[in-house]
Amino acid sequence: MKHIIVIGAGFGGLKFARKLNNTKEYTITLIDRNNFHQFQPLFYQVATAGLDASNISFPLRNIFRASKNVRIRVEEVTAISTIDKTITTPTDTLSYDYLVLATGATTNFFNNETIKAHSFPMKSTAQALQLRNQIIGNLEEASRKTNVEDIKKLLTIVIVGGGPTGVELSGALSEMRRDTLPKEYPEINFSNMVIYLLEGSPKLLGNMSQASSESALGYLNKMGVVVKTSTVVKDYIEGNVILQDGSNIGSHLVIWAAGVKGTMPEGLINASISKSNLLKVDEFNKVIGYEEVYAIGDIASMESKKYPRGFPQLANVAIDQAKNLADNFMNQIKGKKAEPFEYFNKGSMATIGRNKAVVDLAKPKLSFQGFFAWFIWMTLHLFLLIGFKNKIIVFINWIYKYITHNQSLSLWYSTLARRKD
Ligand SMILES: Cc1cc2nc3c(=O)[nH]c(=O)nc-3n(C[C@H](O)[C@H](O)[C@H](O)COP(=O)(O)OP(=O)(O)OC[C@H]3O[C@@H](n4cnc5c(N)ncnc54)[C@H](O)[C@@H]3O)c2cc1C
Repeated sequence: MKHIIVIGAGFGGLKFARKLNNTKEYTITLIDRNNFHQFQPLFYQVATAGLDASNISFPLRNIFRASKNVRIRVEEVTAISTIDKTITTPTDTLSYDYLVLATGATTNFFNNETIKAHSFPMKSTAQALQLRNQIIGNLEEASRKTNVEDIKKLLTIVIVGGGPTGVELSGALSEMRRDTLPKEYPEINFSNMVIYLLEGSPKLLGNMSQASSESALGYLNKMGVVVKTSTVVKDYIEGNVILQDGSNIGSHLVIWAAGVKGTMPEGLINASISKSNLLKVDEFNKVIGYEEVYAIGDIASMESKKYPRGFPQLANVAIDQAKNLADNFMNQIKGKKAEPFEYFNKGSMATIGRNKAVVDLAKPKLSFQGFFAWFIWMTLHLFLLIGFKNKIIVFINWIYKYITHNQSLSLWYSTLARRKD
């Protein structure tokens, strides 16, 4: 049996291990720094107290408890040696026959250390919980203050990055401001709470159609979110967001959703790594310069005729690459030719709030928005979520929230509290 080490149990790594689960030809060690799979598309609902973290997480050992060939290891992989064919963790060194990197992406602060130190990213469940804690902590602090300027600064939230994450977050925060917070904080005047969404390019949802981008902007305007496009954030110092045009916004909460870059353990040659810290792979997801090292999902940069700058960093791409790679590992056993990967874009979508979403379909080329788009968004996300129990709980939460207009999970943990500005 050949030993495959998979680093990362996100969408790509988990699907790959599941596809080769209980095969006789391979043993698999699936390594992640967390002992659970995290469903990133719903982080924003954890951050805005709509869902509990456990509703969008799935324990890895539970998934593979009947597996004969998949073993879980919960540790950070710190280094790779392709000469010895080993990976290193803080406690061990493990040998592999094949290595699959599915380590995903991390937040890109574009080398701005102050923004990195003082803003809140949302690339893990822990960060979504920290963000929720900060939102609620600021509200509690505002409820105790009397100086209006202090209150305004505590209530003002600046979201940087007008991609799906920024749009979804600002929509959810605006609904929270309208529906839940005035009931829970009667002592606060919520006309002092301003939610900014800042985007450096001229349009929101840059990867979507013009129609979807404009609809999203229209929805957010109606919901009272202050959207500023072509607005670049230069710095965030002492509670002031400094914009490139020299103006600034006073805020004690900046959420950074403005960029990602690849993340991987050290040890691979520079020639394999792209400018965005991604691993360059061929059409079989094999990392350029290596025979036994593969990369899938967000960390992989594969150029194709249709996508000369690589595929979008989406869950579906990671899942489809994982399936293709697992099939090719089986093809190798059967003496069949490996199949190259090609991405078939089915479309993209983003939700802005209750009955409000935008969908771009690839075939037929069609954009639509409103209730139907929102319904499709919910159905697809429920379908993608791992675990029957999670699907049921999330569905019940959504129905409850739809009927009562209530975010039910506004918990604040004093031990998690940290003001970063
Ligand atoms: C807030 C947010 C919303 C999103 N919404 C959508 C959406 O609506 N639709 C969509 O299609 N996509 C969405 N995405 C993108 C989607 O989540 C990613 O494309 C997808 O997760 C990529 O899968 P992956 O397997 O490559 O990596 P990931 O799912 O990121 O998994 C990487 C895993 O590797 C582990 N890891 C990394 N480095 C190490 C290490 N050194 N040692 C051990 N473990 C390690 C991490 O803990 C993680 O579990 C969203 C992303 C975010 C952040």
